[in-house]
Amino acid sequence: MATLFTKIIEREIPAQIVYEDAHVVGFKDINPQAPVHVLFVPRREIATLNDLGGEDAVLAGRLVLAAAAYAKQEGFADSGYRTVFNCNRDGGQTVYHIHLHLLAGRPLSWPPG
Ligand code: AMP
Repeated sequence: MATLFTKIIEREIPAQIVYEDAHVVGFKDINPQAPVHVLFVPRREIATLNDLGGEDAVLAGRLVLAAAAYAKQEGFADSGYRTVFNCNRDGGQTVYHIHLHLLAGRPLSWPPG
């Protein structure tokens, strides 16, 4: 069965898509934790970071590059931002289709909760 994020990518469920290329789609998080909160998702379904193989190195890099390009485009690359992959229960993962969170627009505390 298609994941929630595949349904967003396929436009079966509405979302504010802000980035798109052949491999990666970026859309606004429905429950933003910062003024900017975008999720970068591979078109191909991969459940968790644990399911990435060596052959996925370029795809994983594409998620990071897409987030960095978006930060530059939107003008907050210099002020800064945070990128996060949550993995499984203790990492706080709730959607099992890997996604890179991009958070920006306010100072982000450390360590995270
Ligand atoms: P995670 O907890 O790391 O798996 O992140 C899943 C994220 O997906 C959460 O930040 C949710 O707010 C977000 N989310 C869940 N449903 C939607 C949706 N329909 N559109 C956009 N973001 C969503």
